[in-house]
Amino acid sequence: MSNTLDKIAEVPQRLITPETLPTLILGGGFTGLFTALHLSRQHYTTPTILIDRDWSFIFKPLLYEVLSGEMNMQFISHRYDALLHKSGITFIRDNVQSIDLQQRKVSLASGLHYTYSNLVLSLGGVVSYSGVKGAKEYTVPFSTIEDAMTLGKQLRDCLQRATQSETLQQKKILLTFVILGAGRTGVELTATLADLLPDWYDSLGGEISDIRILLIQRGKKILKGDDDHLRQTAEDALHKRSVSVKVMLETTVTEVRPNIIVIKRNDQVEEITAATIIWTTGIVTNPLIDTLSIPEGGRDRQGRLKLTDTLELIDFPEVFAGGDCAVMEHPLPLTAQVAYQQGAAIAHNLQALSEGHSPIAAEIEMRGTLMKLGMNESVAKIFDRYEVQGHLGHLIRQAAYIELLPTLASNFKGTLEWISDELFQRCVGV
Ligand SMILES: Cc1cc2nc3c(=O)[nH]c(=O)nc-3n(C[C@H](O)[C@H](O)[C@H](O)COP(=O)(O)OP(=O)(O)OC[C@H]3O[C@@H](n4cnc5c(N)ncnc54)[C@H](O)[C@@H]3O)c2cc1C
Repeated sequence: MSNTLDKIAEVPQRLITPETLPTLILGGGFTGLFTALHLSRQHYTTPTILIDRDWSFIFKPLLYEVLSGEMNMQFISHRYDALLHKSGITFIRDNVQSIDLQQRKVSLASGLHYTYSNLVLSLGGVVSYSGVKGAKEYTVPFSTIEDAMTLGKQLRDCLQRATQSETLQQKKILLTFVILGAGRTGVELTATLADLLPDWYDSLGGEISDIRILLIQRGKKILKGDDDHLRQTAEDALHKRSVSVKVMLETTVTEVRPNIIVIKRNDQVEEITAATIIWTTGIVTNPLIDTLSIPEGGRDRQGRLKLTDTLELIDFPEVFAGGDCAVMEHPLPLTAQVAYQQGAAIAHNLQALSEGHSPIAAEIEMRGTLMKLGMNESVAKIFDRYEVQGHLGHLIRQAAYIELLPTLASNFKGTLEWISDELFQRCVGV
């Protein structure tokens, strides 16, 4: 009984701020964009502003396709002004510089300031180099569209130069590709490269057996956090690519220098020479989240914001958060499918508050895993029960992502259904 009364008592407190103050959404990734789209669909009447430092939303799960040339950039990159056209949501392209939760004030790099009634923190994460000396300077990250373009250029450059290298040693360095981190991104990227690089090198007249691909992981297994069956499927896939992948487990990177990576394994220090060293590990919370003045206990050990089950900050009920910068009581993987469902739940609760109702607990379903395991090969694990591999898995992933992408840009309703219920219904129906 007292719980119910507490909840009712909370509602007026949230509505103290004058209605004219906007709801601000900081970050237009999976959480922020889907919050905005759902608010629009719900005809949310509070003025709403979405702020992102980029002009376009990037569909990160398909970055591999941009790298490999399987897909054009325009399929995975969608301008916010087009996506939000006639949605009633204002888009501001700017860099968020500071957030003052106590004063309810957000400042942007351009000098603009906003005071808000409600705030949505959806700023995602950033790459961390975990203090490894030289990692930032001498490795290539793989997290943004710019990273994918830079890496593609670097790979082609190495292959081309290898065809005319003057010494065997130089050729070996140019044809050695090291991927650091065997989480999902590391594994998907490695599998893609193990098909792509031989294909490109063959077309340059090179000998594909000269290519070496190393996947380095500090832990005892790849895909930590995934189930053994999926892990086995991924390991099998890595071994049967066009060039074999050497997986080095329990190997710690201690330093990176130009064309050299220093590793430690079995208490031995070794050096590997490679012209391409790719960093796929260590996503940490956006630095802006670290600057927030939040009472002790408001963050987890990684610095992510702890949320109530309604996706609000414990000490700031007018502030919602989701995606890679936040953590629920039962932590969920840092994935797009979690982030976009949280976006929908945040929109629902903002609407509830604006109508004087209490917010409700967010229910996030883990609906499946789609992983690219090479060119034209994927695994689709649906509702953690059915696993479809190989070309059929690839077709499911294609259907899920690619075929629905054009709808994203052209059809507002389609946008909401995209990768959500419709997608996973389709997968189950295959
Ligand atoms: C290569 C790669 C492959 C992936 N594959 C998959 C997959 O297959 N399946 C899956 O479920 N997940 C996948 N993920 C993870 C998924 O993309 C993330 O979990 C998801 O994007 C998190 O959503 P988010 O809203 O928290 O953050 P993001 O989507 O990262 O969005 C954060 C937004 O905040 C903006 N921003 C950040 N700082 C500022 C600032 N200071 N000012 C203004 N704007 C700012 C950014 O521009 C960005 O648009 C992949 C990630 C990567 C990198």
